Amino acid sequence: MKATNVVQRVDDLGRVVLQVKLRRERELESNSEVEMSVGGNYILSRSYVSGCVACGDRNEFMDFMAKPVCRASAGTQLASTPAS
Ligand SMILES: [Zn+2]
Repeated sequence: MKATNVVQRVDDLGRVVLQVKLRRERELESNSEVEMSVGGNYILSRSYVSGCVACGDRNEFMDFMAKPVCRASAGTQLASTPAS
């Protein structure tokens, strides 16, 4: 996916609004959790994922159809996906 840079103002309470288009693209519903990584002169935010979307495992994620999935669950999904 192509990276997008967005400039937003921080309000008096320290809030930054994510644009509707961005929330929809990233499937961020109200009360979704966002993880912030802070380093140097940047703050990086991403959807917070507590574990594999299929089984909840917290180790060795890989990207499978844009979702974090462990290797075991990805293998199960690939085995059950009909060949095209
Ligand atoms: Zn899994």
